Amino acid sequence: RRRRLMKAIRVAAAGGPEVLLLEDVPQPATGRGEALVRLAAIGVNYIDVYQRNGMYPMTRPFTPGSEGAGTIVAIGDGATTLHEGDRVAYAMHPGSYAEYAVVPVAKLVQVPEAISLRDAAAAMLQGMTAHYLANSTFALAAGQFALIHAGAGGVGLLLTQLAKGKNAHVISTVSTAHKERLARAAGADDVVRYTETDFVAEARRITSGRGVEVVYDSVGRTTFQGSLRALRPRGLLALFGASSGPVPPFDPQLLNERGSLYVTRPTLAHYVADSAELQWRARSVFDDLIAGRLKLRTEHAYPLEDAAQAHADLEARRTTGKVLLIPPLAHAEA
Ligand code: NDP
Repeated sequence: RRRRLMKAIRVAAAGGPEVLLLEDVPQPATGRGEALVRLAAIGVNYIDVYQRNGMYPMTRPFTPGSEGAGTIVAIGDGATTLHEGDRVAYAMHPGSYAEYAVVPVAKLVQVPEAISLRDAAAAMLQGMTAHYLANSTFALAAGQFALIHAGAGGVGLLLTQLAKGKNAHVISTVSTAHKERLARAAGADDVVRYTETDFVAEARRITSGRGVEVVYDSVGRTTFQGSLRALRPRGLLALFGASSGPVPPFDPQLLNERGSLYVTRPTLAHYVADSAELQWRARSVFDDLIAGRLKLRTEHAYPLEDAAQAHADLEARRTTGKVLLIPPLAHAEA
């Protein structure tokens, strides 16, 4: 039996944004425990760049994207917890730059009525990342100092809001005046333009020379050494990304010299390790959205066919908050 075709972005060779090509491919079929989701919105994340450019190894050709939200239109055998017509969202499952995606039901969360599918697609991956960073990697407490790099980015704005919700003191780094305004609007107490000003000196000045308890560093190569120097003794560096490139190898003795520091390199996958943890984190993010404790910025939405432009803008530091792709079917509905 021939399967219906759908539009999807495919990557046949590692490279720049231009390798993201719109193609007609067969709609995927559900297997046991899986659901077919008609996507209303697709989340773009920096990891999509690493997978496209070859920094993370991929079996090609592939459909990029690991986040989306939509409606279940078919369901496989053995999937009893969700049903056709349910509004769902997911993160950390490959192949979302498409009109339809097949996703294991265990990876889906139901989207509350009060939340649009667009907001759900915007909140899942970066929201749960901010949640584990502020609660589980380091349990931020009132009065503690947190340095958050790329503070106007997707994760950065959400993490800032969660940290402020815990009454921590947030120092954000950003590259432009516009981003500085967004970081402050999200609650950052201090904002450093790290492209012009030494963020280590600023972090030391703001903490009266002591340094911060925790650095959330997703920038990597260009910030890593400074992040270590901005910490107080026994502080924690959560290195959770490499937007500026991977961090070169370093001698662990450096951690001793800089004050018995801790470094971790976490990934969301290990913080949504089972479905109870996934449901808890997603629910917490949704509750914060509904209560207004967490606000999304979703100005950067592109038609699915403009995925290359979305990647180009993300890599050139032109985006703020969430980057979304909207598939053609969802356009027609909107
Ligand atoms: P962002 O919206 O934060 O975009 C990246 C930002 O990084 C840019 O806007 C820019 O902000 C900053 N940046 C600094 N240097 C560079 C550079 N040389 N090139 C490009 N950008 C640079 O993206 P996301 O919110 O999607 O992701 C943020 C980071 O978090 C990524 O590194 C990603 O891999 C990581 N991540 C990790 C997860 C995990 O579990 N480990 C989960 C989710 C995300 P500015 O202009 O202000 O400097």
